[in-house]
Amino acid sequence: MKIAISGCGITGTATALQLANQGHDVTIFEQADECTSIGAGILISPQGQFALEKLGVLSEVLQNSEKLTGMKAQHLSGRTLVELQYHWLKPELFGLGVHRGKLFESLLRACRAAGVTIVTGFTTQQTEIRSDEKIALRDEHGNTSDAYDFVIATDGLRSLLRDASKIKSKVIDYQYAAMWATAPCAIQPGQLVQYVDGTRRLAGLLPIGNGHSSFFWGLRCDSYDELRSGSFDVWKQQVIQTCPDSESVFESIQSFDELTFARYRHVIMSRYYSDKIVFLGDAGHATSPHLGQGANLGLEDAIEFADALSQTNDFQQACKIYSKSRKRKLRFYQQLTRILTPFFQSDGFPKSPLRNLTLPWMPYLPIIRREMLRTLCGFKNGWLA
Ligand SMILES: Cc1cc2nc3c(=O)[nH]c(=O)nc-3n(C[C@H](O)[C@H](O)[C@H](O)COP(=O)(O)OP(=O)(O)OC[C@H]3O[C@@H](n4cnc5c(N)ncnc54)[C@H](O)[C@@H]3O)c2cc1C
Repeated sequence: MKIAISGCGITGTATALQLANQGHDVTIFEQADECTSIGAGILISPQGQFALEKLGVLSEVLQNSEKLTGMKAQHLSGRTLVELQYHWLKPELFGLGVHRGKLFESLLRACRAAGVTIVTGFTTQQTEIRSDEKIALRDEHGNTSDAYDFVIATDGLRSLLRDASKIKSKVIDYQYAAMWATAPCAIQPGQLVQYVDGTRRLAGLLPIGNGHSSFFWGLRCDSYDELRSGSFDVWKQQVIQTCPDSESVFESIQSFDELTFARYRHVIMSRYYSDKIVFLGDAGHATSPHLGQGANLGLEDAIEFADALSQTNDFQQACKIYSKSRKRKLRFYQQLTRILTPFFQSDGFPKSPLRNLTLPWMPYLPIIRREMLRTLCGFKNGWLA
């Protein structure tokens, strides 16, 4: 089939690669003028690693990432809030801390080798159905693409194609966001470490290999401009006080300009497809990054959709198979992230004491610990599955 993909991110490249490997003729349309290796460090779960293995890029990603034993969140006092280690579930499991750009480079290289065509500088705004039932993309200047059998929207959490579609969807913008940067870091804890102080202060370090870590600092969206207009050194001292391990990061980060500001969005679609378009990755189900599953789910979407298409020649039928296999899992991770996010970043009194009372003992109950670990690994397929 002749397939157009709008958005050349992690989900777009993974989907294009899998479909091209199955013999389809795939073109990706990307709004940026160049496909570059940008982004924060991300945590790839064991489930995400299985997807990378199916895509044939796991060994390359392993060389450019850090194997992590688990994750830990702690209070400023050093007291542990919660800790989860992958090997508590199975000895061979681990997480991967990787720079999003490195992961993207591996996927993009593999796409090019598989014959995927990449068109840059094309911001898809609309689609149009032709008289022959084929579909074309239109950009903001009115330029129209060739005609395709169907379109895959992987244009991220601010998807214009989702806005243009008639599918009912709900978008919630979080009041909290994060600033992040990647830099050399002297302390490599071998796991994701987060530091919490109530629900208004959150900082963390994710090792991503080669002595580098991804550092992040949570903040209210409406405090960002005020923060930037203030003193970098005063803020730096506050960060080091919260997250002492980050001190060496500031040897290479010396101004606010070197940090990227990322807002979060929660997107719920009533269905993931229409007549000729299917929505995968953040375009279909964006969440806050608190469970660290967005990229993992996007990689898995790619495999699952390609599997569905390999079972039938019919796009609608493939979408039905895909939705049936994905619905419960996506709903579970979205609902859980939505419930948990305010316990880590929000205003309001009761959430922090409630979290501090309940979370520390949860991993000591074997059934709950197992479910928490399965969730972290990306193995859950629904609340009860
Ligand atoms: C601070 C932070 C930390 C995170 N940590 C983790 C983590 O640890 N683990 C994890 O799994 N996930 C994490 N995530 C989430 C993860 O980054 C996203 O879920 C993932 O990148 C989504 O990939 P995507 O390809 O679906 O969308 P995107 O990465 O947003 O890619 C969308 C692409 O589409 C392009 N595009 C957009 N609009 C158009 C248009 N109209 N026309 C053409 N092209 C367009 C964009 O330029 C981009 O290239 C984190 C996110 C943040 C912000």
